[in-house]
Amino acid sequence: MSTHFIGNRRVAGSSGETIPVLDPSDGQVFAHIARGNSEDIRRAVAAARAAADGGTWGRLAPVERGRLLRKLSDALLAHHDELAHLEMRDCGKPVKQAIADATAVARYFEFYAGACDKLHGETIPYTPGYAVMSFYEPHGVTGHIIPWNYPMQIFGRSVGGALAAGNACVVKPAEDACLSLLRIAELAVECGFPDGALNIVTGYGHEAGQALADAAGIDHISFTGSARVGTLIAQSAARRHVPVTLELGGKSPQIVFADANLDDALPVIVNAIVQNAGQTCSAGSRLLVEASAYERVLEAVGARIATLKVGPAVLDFDVGPLIRASQLQRVEGFLADAKASAMRSIAQGSIAPESPATGFYARPTLIADVPMEAPLACDEVFGPVLAAMPFRDEADAIRLANGTEYGLVAGVWTENGGRGLRMARAIRSGQVFINNYGAGGGVELPFGGVKSSGYGREKGFEALYGFSVMKTVVIRHG
Ligand code: NAD
Repeated sequence: MSTHFIGNRRVAGSSGETIPVLDPSDGQVFAHIARGNSEDIRRAVAAARAAADGGTWGRLAPVERGRLLRKLSDALLAHHDELAHLEMRDCGKPVKQAIADATAVARYFEFYAGACDKLHGETIPYTPGYAVMSFYEPHGVTGHIIPWNYPMQIFGRSVGGALAAGNACVVKPAEDACLSLLRIAELAVECGFPDGALNIVTGYGHEAGQALADAAGIDHISFTGSARVGTLIAQSAARRHVPVTLELGGKSPQIVFADANLDDALPVIVNAIVQNAGQTCSAGSRLLVEASAYERVLEAVGARIATLKVGPAVLDFDVGPLIRASQLQRVEGFLADAKASAMRSIAQGSIAPESPATGFYARPTLIADVPMEAPLACDEVFGPVLAAMPFRDEADAIRLANGTEYGLVAGVWTENGGRGLRMARAIRSGQVFINNYGAGGGVELPFGGVKSSGYGREKGFEALYGFSVMKTVVIRHG
């Protein structure tokens, strides 16, 4: 697998250097990938440029583009088992999660296949004697920087939308997890994608990633990752006046009122923090509970967390390993800080005895009485740690919900419809779920953040506008 994918071929990296890839379940090296650099990015951008500007891809009718995307969706479904196994090994995803992700990427391509020939402009009433129309045109070549937590899903939502809008793509997956995407590129060629429509360069963020963000010939950048790197990407793009979509982190609240239906709420609340071992941008990592129900809810959530088992991906326990040792240290650091500050640890899950000592396992944990200014309440842990705190009333809940630098997703649990809607309108975030919580939600639902969670929207039809540029044509006909 230690090659890039450029112009429909596997291509060796120009430096010949590689990066070892670890299996998070046992911490052992099981593969190597190519260590891409600016020369590899230059080649990939040239291939994409040729595809977009007068190449077969650029000339394809939207309906034909849609048919190719649909073929790829079918191929992804047909290979979902193989793709799921790659991510199980690469990311440490338990079997069920890996299969869900492989199925989701097929669904992204299905959705965007149907959208290719429906992105139309308008005619605009103007001065008599004139006709005005608008067109949505592709940017040309789009760059996509993808994190390791959901490689397939984020590829589907970002690259699926960009291809549907007619762009040729250059993708830089995360150094920790990119094997599934290299395989998807091969499947795309088998489906008949023309030369250069989809290119993948693997490598480190500060090398290949930075080179992609700086590359002349990239017309739009979609970045999903940390707020810190998002700033660097936006700075690079600003120097060349290139538009960016930033999908960054979150500290999303689950807000539980005393009248909530806890039978519905509890399994969803627990899943939202342990799914993918908490390494989800939209993880519901803060539990805000109305004071009169606080102890009752803590006890019930704690009872569920205590039953959770963590273990190797292939054994499909409730929770898999974290991606790497530094991520485990990060999570342990938050827990040590909570202990040192005398916060209440309500419950912890357990690590299954089958787990190799060299794997990266963190126990799901519920910590209560977390002060708003504590790192655990403000910073993204990216691990299975839920921080709980009480609130007095609606106004207090809104204050706490909006009290971090992030604004990605929120969940509101109440049987009072008016209150649910009032909360949804007052919370500053890209998505709000009332009496349900989908980490990120379905393919159809526009997704993205406000504040340090980023800007721009992916998913849904809305993404196609971001991956297009509007042109206005004015005709004087007299
Ligand atoms: P990261 O920012 O370290 O890396 C993300 C990607 O950026 C990787 O491909 C990496 O190689 C690349 N990168 C790193 N440094 C770079 C640089 N200087 N220039 C260009 N590219 C560079 O993030 P991570 O630790 O891999 O992922 C976790 C973060 O991603 C979390 O903050 C999480 O919330 C966020 N995330 C957000 C969403 C969303 O949709 N909002 C989804 C998933 C993850």
